[in-house]
Amino acid sequence: MKTLVVFGTRPEAIKLFPVVRALAARPGLEVVTCVTAQHRGLLDQVLAIAGLTPDIDLDLMEPGQTLDRLTARLLTGLGEVMDRTKPDRVLVQGDTATAMAGALAAYYRRVPVGHVEAGLRSGDIYHPWPEEVNRRMIAPIADLHFAPTQTAADALARENVRAGVQVTGNTVIDALHWTRERIAADPSLAAGLDTIAERFAGKRIVLVTTHRRENFGGGMEAIARAIRRIAAMPDTAVLFPVHPNPNVVSVMDAALGDLANVARLEPLDYPHFIRALSLCHLALTDSGGVQEEAPALGKPVLVMRETTERPEGVAAGTAKLIGADEDRIVSEVSTLLGDKAAYLAMARAHNPYGDGRASERIAGLVADGFGL
Ligand code: UDP
Repeated sequence: MKTLVVFGTRPEAIKLFPVVRALAARPGLEVVTCVTAQHRGLLDQVLAIAGLTPDIDLDLMEPGQTLDRLTARLLTGLGEVMDRTKPDRVLVQGDTATAMAGALAAYYRRVPVGHVEAGLRSGDIYHPWPEEVNRRMIAPIADLHFAPTQTAADALARENVRAGVQVTGNTVIDALHWTRERIAADPSLAAGLDTIAERFAGKRIVLVTTHRRENFGGGMEAIARAIRRIAAMPDTAVLFPVHPNPNVVSVMDAALGDLANVARLEPLDYPHFIRALSLCHLALTDSGGVQEEAPALGKPVLVMRETTERPEGVAAGTAKLIGADEDRIVSEVSTLLGDKAAYLAMARAHNPYGDGRASERIAGLVADGFGL
């Protein structure tokens, strides 16, 4: 029985490579991987580390393409792939345009869809935009919903999606475990950070990532000003792998120049990013995935967003929603750096997002669905 796994961006690749491995390990299951390359460079970094060569590569990234054009090309391209490969099931992950178009193209062909990381909801269709609606549109199409947490399963139940919902854990924790084991066995995989670890030895490192559309423009400028002020705090340094989106790069280049105490880096591959997260004192981010990884490593995470579809970290006390206001960012970071009790209250390792065995469960459920 043939499962077509479709993905296009860095977070999808990180969260699906363990699933592809688990599916491939099951006798009787044939796995075909198709990447849309909605994000070319960032996707390729993950494929290289995971040792995954996609069977089909649609290479659809175009600089500055509109969401309409991207979605239209994804739908047509993925439809053609499905006509050619004739899968018995399609798997999509998360909330990207690739996931939404993949589910829709499968539906048009009456091919059943499994949704990995189903049921996340912020409740606001413009935060995250357009991801909240991408994710919601997959729900009525999928017949297997792999909810990472009970909260996600409950959100689906509120939309009357109950059949085929299973709480599996989030596969990002599987990817994190796998990668940490690889680094432990071969530290050279993340040795590119040796110089920075030396340069910032004895300082508290604030790891920053930002790329959300909602923060483009004024939000990015506020974040850049906040970073300048954070870098001036005593015994503090900023480690900032900058997302290649021009809306991020242009603002950060202009605002941060060659500021001492700020290491502005190209996007890190996954082992290097996980090492950066392990080195840091706290993370300041608007990313979804980082909100899931930081609690697993016991790192406080300040989330530069107004809402989150990942409330578990907030409920557990490791994550805090702070928005993208300059003064608020500076004051929240300053509290964590200056107030030991406040820091320790947030710095507890726990795993609201999974136990590292989500992919195994998902592969088992896909196999069960085929009666294998
Ligand atoms: N990440 C990475 N290198 C970086 C920054 C992030 O490998 O330089 C990883 C991070 O560990 C997480 C994922 O990329 O698993 C998050 O991707 P992103 O923030 O682009 O997307 P989101 O999770 O917000 O959808």
